[in-house]
Amino acid sequence: MRQQRIRPEFVESAPRQLSEGVIYISDRFRTALHKCCCGCGQEVVTPLNPAGWSYQREGGTVTFKPSIGNWSFPCKSHYLIVRNEIVWARGMTDRQIATVKARDARDKQKYINQCNKSKSTDELLLRRAAPNSEHSLLFRLGALLNGWWSK
Ligand SMILES: [Zn+2]
Repeated sequence: MRQQRIRPEFVESAPRQLSEGVIYISDRFRTALHKCCCGCGQEVVTPLNPAGWSYQREGGTVTFKPSIGNWSFPCKSHYLIVRNEIVWARGMTDRQIATVKARDARDKQKYINQCNKSKSTDELLLRRAAPNSEHSLLFRLGALLNGWWSK
């Protein structure tokens, strides 16, 4: 079911299980996480940096910029978070999505060129992975390779 509201929770690191209707914000890792507001259960990761998102605190509410477009999920949901309210945006056509993705990729590259790539998001997700599990091992290996290749 589509949600109409979300509330912020300020955390050091991400919890293993995300609750619906909560956006977890880690200033330390400059990343926010939430479950897709359409109710599909996908985890949405929004890095908090100039190439990603920013949020504004106002009393107990948060406003995220820009809008959150989950193009890579089957639901392709698109919404804004304005003072804890989910404002549903119109779905985009495949062509519009391709344009946005290309723009995002350019912005990201620009940002990476500007300063060293932030490892915060990787680190946050890495810490969350259960130790000793196969998943964790693969995850760490993947992160290691990613880190290596991006150098
Ligand atoms: Zn969804």
